[in-house]
Amino acid sequence: MTDFDATRAMFHLPDGVIYLDGNSLGPLPRAAAARVARSITDEWGEMLITGWNKAGWMDQPSRVGDRIGRLIGAPPGTVVMGDTLSVKVYQALASALEMRPGRRVILSDTGNFPSDLYMADGLCRTLGDGYCLRTVAPEEVAGAVDDTVAVTMLTEVDYRTGRLHDMADLTARAHAAGALAIWDLAHSAGAIPVDLTGAGADFAVGCTYKYLNSGPGGPAFIYVAPHHAEGVRPALSGWLGHEAPFAFDADYRPGRGIERMRVGTPPVLQLAALEAALDVWDMAEMADVRARSIELTEGFIAGVEAACPMLTLASPSDPHKRGSQVSFRHPEGYAIMQALIARGVIGDFRAPDILRFGFTPLYIGLDEVRAAMAILAEVMAGNLWDRPEYKTRARVT
Ligand SMILES: *Cc1c(COP(=O)(O)O)cnc(C)c1O
Repeated sequence: MTDFDATRAMFHLPDGVIYLDGNSLGPLPRAAAARVARSITDEWGEMLITGWNKAGWMDQPSRVGDRIGRLIGAPPGTVVMGDTLSVKVYQALASALEMRPGRRVILSDTGNFPSDLYMADGLCRTLGDGYCLRTVAPEEVAGAVDDTVAVTMLTEVDYRTGRLHDMADLTARAHAAGALAIWDLAHSAGAIPVDLTGAGADFAVGCTYKYLNSGPGGPAFIYVAPHHAEGVRPALSGWLGHEAPFAFDADYRPGRGIERMRVGTPPVLQLAALEAALDVWDMAEMADVRARSIELTEGFIAGVEAACPMLTLASPSDPHKRGSQVSFRHPEGYAIMQALIARGVIGDFRAPDILRFGFTPLYIGLDEVRAAMAILAEVMAGNLWDRPEYKTRARVT
């Protein structure tokens, strides 16, 4: 059984704040500050360039990748860290398309995160030759996989509504049609149990600054199924994905297995923060996290629906059909969220009208969820959001 009091004690949460936005940026794990400071002073400061060998910086992307792998059903040696999620999406797509010559379609859904769609579109423009991105409504994906599709590119948990795709089913459909399946786990890794191996996923990508708490700008990860690992050709063929980077050969030869998905110099300090953040996960069972998350989201939905009839649930009401977030719609969603934040309840807003709340059992409990519901009820009942200062949009919403 996971001791959630113990995991909670491992985070710094500012006084007076109820943090329901760990789905956008996880809070600071207490040990991360000291761990990064140690990397700076003891490693960078004292070892200088020898830190690449002595402090294990060069192995860090795979070492950390293996720890993430344990959370997403990926065996050791199949996950590597680096770059941002957008870059990893591009990398997975480019490799997958090359594995399905003769097919030109990337299939995705209209609910996917725009960056994934933009990256796919940009790649198609670079490739020319009829390559295109096709998007359908999320509930129509299953029926849209035909023999023109080279690869499906889907985000398992919808960033706006929290709606969950059936990874195993859609992967099987992709394979039955001769296509490959890429899964974006941005809102899955650290949020819900994921079994990439069981689902038969070909590629997966995800970020670490959301539910995995690596901090702003933390690196992304990429997974390649073991049976593809020695065959994929990296489009972003950087020197650290080379078989022998320090041979400085004129020709590119892909590195062994997942190592070839590395591109350039890894973000050592951010990876140090992530290593500390992952220590918290060593104390947690994903099944417990999921059970607690369902308890929190069910409680929140019931409470908000009872007290705030003017808010419309945008997430699936069946907890098994959503991730670890809950969204409500309201035309004044932005102002309502600003009023909440002013009162210490931090969630976020997604255009055009979504109020989004993330539930993270590692550091959020039922008492805080109840307190957040009471504040939301007060804001709605008194129209406390209806003030000009809550209606001016900031750069990040
Ligand atoms: C958060 C998120 C991203 C962000 O990509 P970055 O390159 O890390 O900024 C991309 N895709 C999805 C599905 C996301 O949820």
